[in-house]
Amino acid sequence: MIYDAIVAGVGGMGSATVFELAARGRKVLGLEQFDIPHTLGSSHGHSRIIRLAYAEHPGYVPLLRRAYARWRALEDATGERLLVITGGIDAGAEDTATVQGSLVSCALHDLPHERLDAAALAQRFPGYRLPEPMIGVYQPDAGMLDPERCVTAYVAAARKLGAEIHTRERVSQWHAEEDGVQVQTDKGTYHARRLIVTAGPWARGLVPALNELAVPERQVVLWTEPIVPDHFSAATFPVFNMAAPEGRYYGYPAHDAHGFKIGRYHHRSERVDDPDRMDRACHAEDEAVLRVALRRYFPDADGPTLAMQACIFTNSPDEHFILDVLPDTPRVAIAAGFSGHGFKFCSVVGEILADLALDGGTRHDVPMFRLDRFAAGTCA
Ligand SMILES: Cc1cc2nc3c(=O)[nH]c(=O)nc-3n(C[C@H](O)[C@H](O)[C@H](O)COP(=O)(O)OP(=O)(O)OC[C@H]3O[C@@H](n4cnc5c(N)ncnc54)[C@H](O)[C@@H]3O)c2cc1C
Repeated sequence: MIYDAIVAGVGGMGSATVFELAARGRKVLGLEQFDIPHTLGSSHGHSRIIRLAYAEHPGYVPLLRRAYARWRALEDATGERLLVITGGIDAGAEDTATVQGSLVSCALHDLPHERLDAAALAQRFPGYRLPEPMIGVYQPDAGMLDPERCVTAYVAAARKLGAEIHTRERVSQWHAEEDGVQVQTDKGTYHARRLIVTAGPWARGLVPALNELAVPERQVVLWTEPIVPDHFSAATFPVFNMAAPEGRYYGYPAHDAHGFKIGRYHHRSERVDDPDRMDRACHAEDEAVLRVALRRYFPDADGPTLAMQACIFTNSPDEHFILDVLPDTPRVAIAAGFSGHGFKFCSVVGEILADLALDGGTRHDVPMFRLDRFAAGTCA
């Protein structure tokens, strides 16, 4: 049997890609080393922010519009509620990249937003207690996705369309053949016309070109029981992305029986050489990094610890994504280096990867994600 495509890694990006290929009538095999979903990669922890006024770069906004539409389409197809709109706050001092980037995206793409000073923010959303001169850019379109349910929904929908998906089967290596690709796992050997590598933190083990371009990093998030629960529900507390003097933090309201959740981008700057051996225990030092921000900016959420969990970022040098075909093996498409902000894009990345694998190009505007930007030395 020769598959049209094999997808190596069925997490966030891989699950959407398997679905997209199956929806296009292709014979597709998805290979996942663990269960679906699982808590050992990057797509777990019950919540992921989605926001339209993109502080990281305005070039993401058209992709986000498509991502929103595709998430809604998945909800319609499966009857699952995956996306909860809460509104969102990009916070920080006026001159921070977070606030300025958000305002630039709003201006360039004519996005609805409000600029709230610290007092106005606290009055409107009392969970927020930012000191002057911090401000918040409020965007009504922001919200949160449930990553485990998104992955499960894509996999279930793909299977319904005829996709074959194997769990607990690890891809050990691949090589190009005359007309396609041979993929070897710990259970067998498969042949396909195309290979798509969506292996998240493990990607550089399968694609040596990514060795220094998609580098895993340990993260830890904390859930607390708010002291004033009414200030931290999905109806009263917008998700946030906040540049504070102590670091850049993100957080989510209490929802679906989970508490208020907070994390810090690049947590304690711990590079991970081998994701299989990462420290997954959560320590007092991890909690301390998060409690600092909780106490200062969200004191009414600074209640008892409900849970902590380790997770993994996979960083590219410029923190923008890598979406491309391999220059010397164009039958292989890759998606890597999502740098802690990729989940919201899974639904459109699935489309892009299916385009790249099947057609060699895509209708989406993705030149800023090409692999050769690093070789050319054009990235920041
Ligand atoms: C704590 C935290 C908070 C985040 N918050 C946000 C947020 O609010 N908003 C947002 O948009 N993004 C957020 N992100 C980033 C986002 O979650 C990631 O960018 C996204 O999940 C990456 O998806 P992925 O498919 O690349 O990786 P994964 O979902 O980890 O998928 C990779 C899959 O490949 C499998 N695999 C790897 N190697 C093999 C192999 N050899 N054989 C078979 N299977 C293999 C893995 O087991 C895994 O299932 C956050 C990330 C973390 C860690």
